[in-house]
Amino acid sequence: MKTKDTTKGSCLCGSVCFEADLPPVRFQYCHCISCRKTTSSAHGAFLFFLPERFRWIAGESMIERFTDQQSNPGYMRWFCRRCGSAVPRLSRNKQYFVIPAGLLDDDPLAKPERNIFWDERAPWLLNIDMIPKFSEGIDSIIRET
Ligand SMILES: [Zn+2]
Ligand SMILES: [Zn+2]
Repeated sequence: MKTKDTTKGSCLCGSVCFEADLPPVRFQYCHCISCRKTTSSAHGAFLFFLPERFRWIAGESMIERFTDQQSNPGYMRWFCRRCGSAVPRLSRNKQYFVIPAGLLDDDPLAKPERNIFWDERAPWLLNIDMIPKFSEGIDSIIRET
């Protein structure tokens, strides 16, 4: 079996591209309110890499940086200036590059290991196996009704 040694990712518009050497140090879901707000989703999904194992390929100059001074002082969000996608950022302690898993264009050959800030999880979060699944989008919903 062929083994991969890097994973690549990009933002929605393709301006920001990066790669990292596998395996990640850590892969986890974060349910904290800051991650829910900044990902506009049920939770963050993040892979952690040592900085020397992470490289920008393109678009570093397109990155905007926001630091929360109010609800979670010091919490940082880096995002693409053009499309608004969250992009990799340096962790608060500067020890890791934190990659939002949804940016990956390939399989990092790793799965999330844990949930953090579980007590802050969205009240509507549930196990996805509990609800029906469709292979397509809105058309599937229309056909069902
Ligand atoms: Zn972009
Ligand atoms: Zn979080």
